[in-house]
Amino acid sequence: DDLTGTILGRIRDVPDYPSPGVMFKDITPLLGDHAAFSAVIDALVPGTRVDKVVGIEARGFILAAPVAYHAGAGFVPVRKKGKLPAEALEASYDLEYGSAVIEVHRDAFAPGDRVLIVDDVLATGGTARAAVELVGRAGAEVVGVSVLMELAFLNGRDRLGGVDLRALVVV
Ligand code: IMP
Repeated sequence: DDLTGTILGRIRDVPDYPSPGVMFKDITPLLGDHAAFSAVIDALVPGTRVDKVVGIEARGFILAAPVAYHAGAGFVPVRKKGKLPAEALEASYDLEYGSAVIEVHRDAFAPGDRVLIVDDVLATGGTARAAVELVGRAGAEVVGVSVLMELAFLNGRDRLGGVDLRALVVV
């Protein structure tokens, strides 16, 4: 449809970034286009009530903050280890080479908060899965994961178990 074309026409494929053999999906052309950016934000705003929108560092922040604003929800950052100032919970996940750790503030949520997790791209699903785990351990309820783009050939969806995953475009 219209939104799909708007998005696909403004995501740039960058070969061999950040490492050889990887085709990186660069969303900066989309972010720089007001009509496209606002259409994407509107489409990411959930149809049900949420208390918090989680953004995953760093591109997830750019999308999650305006989604939170429009949803009437608070914004919560999930960051790479060592970036959050107060007491944090951490979760690690495997990368192609090695592993990574992400964190959320222990007191980021009220008990039972309904939470939407937002990121730009779902690739292997490791990052989103770790974020789902963190939100649960922090005492809140994940109502869904929403991404701009899902790279279906990496089967990230399968790693999310029963969590509701919404992608504006699937490639
Ligand atoms: P995953 O953990 O393999 O699903 O990777 C997803 C995370 O890496 C997200 O936080 C994305 O921002 C980032 N990522 C992976 N591939 C791309 C890409 O092609 N473009 C932009 N971000 C990507």
